[in-house]
Amino acid sequence: MKQKIDQAVAVLQQAVRDFPPACFANSLGAEDMVLTDLIARHGLDIGMFSLDTGRLPQQTYDLMQEVRGHYAVPLQVYFPDSALVEEYVAQHGINGFYGSVENRKGCCFARKVEPLRRALAGKGAWVTGMRREQAVTRGTLQFSSFDTDNGLQKLNPLLDWSNRDVWAYIREYDVPYNKLHDQFYPSLGCAPCTRSVTPGEDIRAGRWWWENPENKECGLHASHSSGTSREARVFGVSAQGNVGSAAHDVGRSQNLPGKECSLHVSSTSLEASRIRIREISVQVHDAQKAIA
Ligand code: SF4
Repeated sequence: MKQKIDQAVAVLQQAVRDFPPACFANSLGAEDMVLTDLIARHGLDIGMFSLDTGRLPQQTYDLMQEVRGHYAVPLQVYFPDSALVEEYVAQHGINGFYGSVENRKGCCFARKVEPLRRALAGKGAWVTGMRREQAVTRGTLQFSSFDTDNGLQKLNPLLDWSNRDVWAYIREYDVPYNKLHDQFYPSLGCAPCTRSVTPGEDIRAGRWWWENPENKECGLHASHSSGTSREARVFGVSAQGNVGSAAHDVGRSQNLPGKECSLHVSSTSLEASRIRIREISVQVHDAQKAIA
């Protein structure tokens, strides 16, 4: 464990030294709480931010507040562009994401991706909690590589950590974490788009559960779907353990193939989503005019 901690700190130090200003996109998930602790513990000059989609579970807001009190590192919170969300809601309704995959991706764009773009603007690097074992297609991930979609360096200090390492660190250093992990919630995403899962249940069951499995991705990481079977097997084994550890393993399923968070969406897909939102708006407007 010490070797992995030292390696992670070395990557964080590289971000500070070689790619200033560096920032950390804190999703408040388990990995990101480890990174929060490492950054604070080592006094690293890395700006930390979270995205408040406006639809997060209460437990995530509780953790956000707890982080503020627990650490001396400020957590900047980015909110969606109100005009973009208002436009989306006007066209699709407050829960329009249940209507279609396209609608869901449009909501993710307005509430997650656009704010991320603002958060990363002007930064030299961003740090994420991505790990190799989260998906078979992440086997080629590097500790440090250039993120062409967002135009800055991307560093993954926990690349070689296992899920067990993450939770061992959290327990060893008494790191705050989202209590939903103890309740079989596979994701720390938005409340209306995530439900709890039961041990042995399909790993995709809790995320955007109303969608067909083949649609459960943002369009960026479609190739990750090839790893679903393997991850399902991993989950099935993990879920045989006690409730706590099973819940923690379930929690990792949020990053399984085909369930990538929108923060890693390609610029091409983003533009397609934005354009599609506009197109739909025009179509609805024209239809309304025709009816009138
Ligand atoms: S996860 Fe759901 S509520 Fe959150 S941004 Fe995506 S579609 Fe919207």
